[in-house]
Amino acid sequence: MNSKVYDVLIIGGGAAGLMAASVCAKRGKTTLLLEGNKAFGKKILISGGGRCNFTNLFATHENYQSENQHFFKSALKRYSPYDFLDLVEKYKIEYVEKKAGQLFCKQSARSIVEMLVSECEKSGSELVLNTKVLSVGKLDDLFQVQTASEEFQARNLIVATGGLPIAQIGGNDFGLGLAREFKLATTEVDPALVPFKLKDSLLKKTSALSGVSLPVRIFNERISFDEDLLFTHKGLSGPAILQISLYWNVGESVTIDFLPTENSDDLISYKKSHPKRSIDTFLKSRLPKKFVEYWCQRECLSLVKKLADYSNDELIASIEALKNFSVNPAASEGYRKAEVMRGGVSTDEISSKTMEAKSVKGLYFIGEVVDVTGQLGGFNFQWAWASAHAAGQSII
Ligand SMILES: Cc1cc2nc3c(=O)[nH]c(=O)nc-3n(C[C@H](O)[C@H](O)[C@H](O)COP(=O)(O)OP(=O)(O)OC[C@H]3O[C@@H](n4cnc5c(N)ncnc54)[C@H](O)[C@@H]3O)c2cc1C
Repeated sequence: MNSKVYDVLIIGGGAAGLMAASVCAKRGKTTLLLEGNKAFGKKILISGGGRCNFTNLFATHENYQSENQHFFKSALKRYSPYDFLDLVEKYKIEYVEKKAGQLFCKQSARSIVEMLVSECEKSGSELVLNTKVLSVGKLDDLFQVQTASEEFQARNLIVATGGLPIAQIGGNDFGLGLAREFKLATTEVDPALVPFKLKDSLLKKTSALSGVSLPVRIFNERISFDEDLLFTHKGLSGPAILQISLYWNVGESVTIDFLPTENSDDLISYKKSHPKRSIDTFLKSRLPKKFVEYWCQRECLSLVKKLADYSNDELIASIEALKNFSVNPAASEGYRKAEVMRGGVSTDEISSKTMEAKSVKGLYFIGEVVDVTGQLGGFNFQWAWASAHAAGQSII
């Protein structure tokens, strides 16, 4: 056994763990971080297509999902996107705002990992790679942390082990298991921000559209998003699908509006000005050609019939069909393709101010392992930074 007793031991060298290590060490705490992978922040490296959408300037509590919709407010308020941006600017990392508020690295996500590691090293935190934690116990007031080669002791333990997505780079349920061993409840977990697989009957018809992307409005009874949708050889993807997947359960349908900025009045006026044109001419000026061909075939719309030969009610019905396309996905593409895990350690068990378990002194949970999941757009990293900051600041 390593005879040193650390003030803080952190399991997991991803976004939340690295941030927590630097905050704790800056406050003078002896800090050890153990990471199972050969490198730190592997998810950061692959995030945002290699450019890491590291925060969202407009992050509010409305961008998050949890069994307790108030839990994350305090931590997010105390460490804002601008706090993280200050750090990025201090390191002179160039960034771009891609869509409203979404900040990405201009060059590479690697600069974010290097910045976090540098912050840890400068503050004196010990960082260890290739060291998977196998089990954790608590004896008197000390946590006993077992790895394959050594046992470590610490007064405080921060669990920053992330969730189940992408097992090849360390995704696992270790943090959930650890919570349960300490008799803390966990909520049901599911893959989220994930593409959908379609049922064979529909996929047979849409697979020819694979690669076609178009702006849509996607909605269910809980939420609505205006984003791009992408047809794939398995089903549906793109930001619209990833977003709605956070609010979708197996068996439920979602509705797609393929003409989000128009309504049936637009077709009626088009009919008045272009009575001799066909309906597909109207649609092709607004939607991808391949999609219009699929749609006309699906709805048995004639390519030769003139608009003047349709009644207004018929035209209204055909536009309404495009604006209310209901899909019942067969499944999601699962944790292999999910960006995040929805659910986690129950927020009932954790203090929203400190991230400490209410019933186990010195035990903290931060980042994705907690039942707080953000929408697509930099919100999940912002939760990782903010929850890590809350825990790091509160450890005595
Ligand atoms: C493809 C992809 C793209 C994404 N893009 C974005 C984006 O652009 N913006 C955004 O906000 N979010 C994005 N996300 C989500 C984001 O990556 C996560 O929300 C974030 O990484 C969670 O941080 P974390 O520290 O909690 O977990 P992680 O970053 O997953 O870190 C957990 C770490 O713990 C380690 N670990 C696990 N178990 C053990 C153990 N027993 N012993 C030692 N170490 C262990 C793991 O190896 C891992 O390094 C993306 C996710 C994916 C998969």
